[in-house]
Amino acid sequence: MPLHDFVCRACGHAFEALVMGKDQPTCPLCGSTELAKQMSTFASRTTTKGDSGSSGSAKCSGCAGGSCSTCH
Ligand SMILES: [Zn+2]
Repeated sequence: MPLHDFVCRACGHAFEALVMGKDQPTCPLCGSTELAKQMSTFASRTTTKGDSGSSGSAKCSGCAGGSCSTCH
């Protein structure tokens, strides 16, 4: 799926947009087409959510740090 992360050069807003062929995405905040394309959709998603147990041990799915009320 041609889903890309963009950062608006005009206002700095970061967003995802579907880019089909020669379509030019625009910033949803200011409407600018001066956008910087980010290629790290996958990496940014895993680092922001942290719900995949990146350190590998038995953590609960409700928190990233292993110390919430549902953890052991
Ligand atoms: Zn903008």
